[in-house]
Amino acid sequence: MRFLAFAACACLLALPAGAEQAALVRAEQAALVVVLDPGHGGKFPHDGAHGRSGLVEKDVSLAVAQKTKELLEAAGATVVLTRESDDDVSLADRARVANDAGADLFLSIHCNSMESREDRKVTRGVETYFLSPDPTDAEAKLLAELENGGPDSVPLPKAASPVEGILNDLALGQARNDSAALARLVQNHVIRGTWATSRGVRQAPFLVLSGTRMPSVLVEIGFISHPQEGRLLGKEKYQLKVATALASAVRDFADKVLSRRLVAQARTQEPAAPLEAKPAPPAVVEAPAAPAAAVETPPVQAAGIVASPGGTR
Ligand SMILES: [Zn+2]
Repeated sequence: MRFLAFAACACLLALPAGAEQAALVRAEQAALVVVLDPGHGGKFPHDGAHGRSGLVEKDVSLAVAQKTKELLEAAGATVVLTRESDDDVSLADRARVANDAGADLFLSIHCNSMESREDRKVTRGVETYFLSPDPTDAEAKLLAELENGGPDSVPLPKAASPVEGILNDLALGQARNDSAALARLVQNHVIRGTWATSRGVRQAPFLVLSGTRMPSVLVEIGFISHPQEGRLLGKEKYQLKVATALASAVRDFADKVLSRRLVAQARTQEPAAPLEAKPAPPAVVEAPAAPAAAVETPPVQAAGIVASPGGTR
């Protein structure tokens, strides 16, 4: 609640009094609804990437999601997790949870990993994704395949093909634009909050993002396979840092994007009444004083010409 309330205040100054009032009331009444999606869950092979000393992605993502939830709830938001414990939830069900909750935004939390021993030693950093059928590069494509359940197992139902489903959902243009904005905020806040290496904002066809109807991003909060970064990801203190950054990003998004939309809606609704309230009855009374018009046009149309000033003549 507090998110939208104070965010709206800044934007509302330029609005007419009625619209301002209405938008403010709506902002104050509407708690921000956030759905957090801790990646993976359950038994192998659905437990995600593995790091050193038994650290598993599903546990890190859940811990960070739970901490983020606490922080956001303390600030007045309504938060739903797609899983509360070590459950194996399908990608389609995760998206369904978000849609059913009427979420304002969806944030999927994951850890990255490299395959080869050489890559595991050197590759680290944070990257945030939003949905696109065109992956940023081969690496993004591979990662999406991995997070989608591997090239062999694509568990999404409904659409004839995953790509078709994704393309259908891209019709939700606004949500996609907002997803890009959300991804930038998430990436910036996590980098600022953790001092991790930034691998940037990227695009890829993640199935879990394709089914949601609101701004949605997937953040890879670090490489569980990297010796140092992997160790950090297992520490509660670092998890809290990441969670704090994610909560700040959500707040920032509510301020910058959602509240602006609320105000824009108020603006488009407000002017409708005054415009309709000024019909032009006096012009109709004056109109018959144009007998000459009858020479050129049939009498039936004369009234029509009056109604649209600047007509045929
Ligand atoms: Zn993952």
